Amino acid sequence: MQILASKFIYPADVVNMEATLSPFRNMMIQLSFFQKNDFLQMDHRKIKKISDSFNIVIPTVHAPTVDIFNHEFFDIIKMIKDFYKVSLITIHPQKGDDVIALAKFGEYASVIDNLGVTLAYENFPSRIGRRKWIHLAQEMYVKFDLSFLKITFDTSHLDDPKSCVDEFEAVADKVAVIHLSDQDGENQHQPLGTGKVPYKQFMRHLEEVGFSGPIVIEYMPEYESRLVSDVNGFLL
Ligand SMILES: [Zn+2]
Repeated sequence: MQILASKFIYPADVVNMEATLSPFRNMMIQLSFFQKNDFLQMDHRKIKKISDSFNIVIPTVHAPTVDIFNHEFFDIIKMIKDFYKVSLITIHPQKGDDVIALAKFGEYASVIDNLGVTLAYENFPSRIGRRKWIHLAQEMYVKFDLSFLKITFDTSHLDDPKSCVDEFEAVADKVAVIHLSDQDGENQHQPLGTGKVPYKQFMRHLEEVGFSGPIVIEYMPEYESRLVSDVNGFLL
């Protein structure tokens, strides 16, 4: 299985990129970005160069807050593809109308196919997802009928953490990325084993069904050392 650590990069990190990336030497990571304008100003050549020098492999990138409604959307997707040589990209759905979003994807289908990227939309819980054009994995499953539109299945963003395996099974053939962390219904992105996600059962299930995409362990920043040891523990 492909088990990765998620590492958010903020503008302040780029100044001392060596120190930021050093704990992840010889690992596979998902590089994650937050604000679109920060992303556009970062020195991505430098980030990639230091990752390479630390033997850090980046199979997938979490895009900054940008969606099909923004005019910079394709520029940012293209930057991710060009700088990081990554074609599997997680996107947080933004505010908007689902009919307009899906019509735009239809309109740009050949552009996206030519770019050769897969856009994996991340699910969000009902309580914070309602303002987004799409937020539940099951809704994505029904509405995504273009080959490049997939799902990033985030266990911290499930309404009911205990239903993790069933919810995954209901959408499994459109899941391209898994974001794995624990939650207790209130706190998200907690270390595995501290909340209500049956992660051992879920991992066994993923192994049984032969899930081949990236499984990204994603914790709040304060748990970074735990993140590194948990990822390495899975790989033992
Ligand atoms: Zn996530």
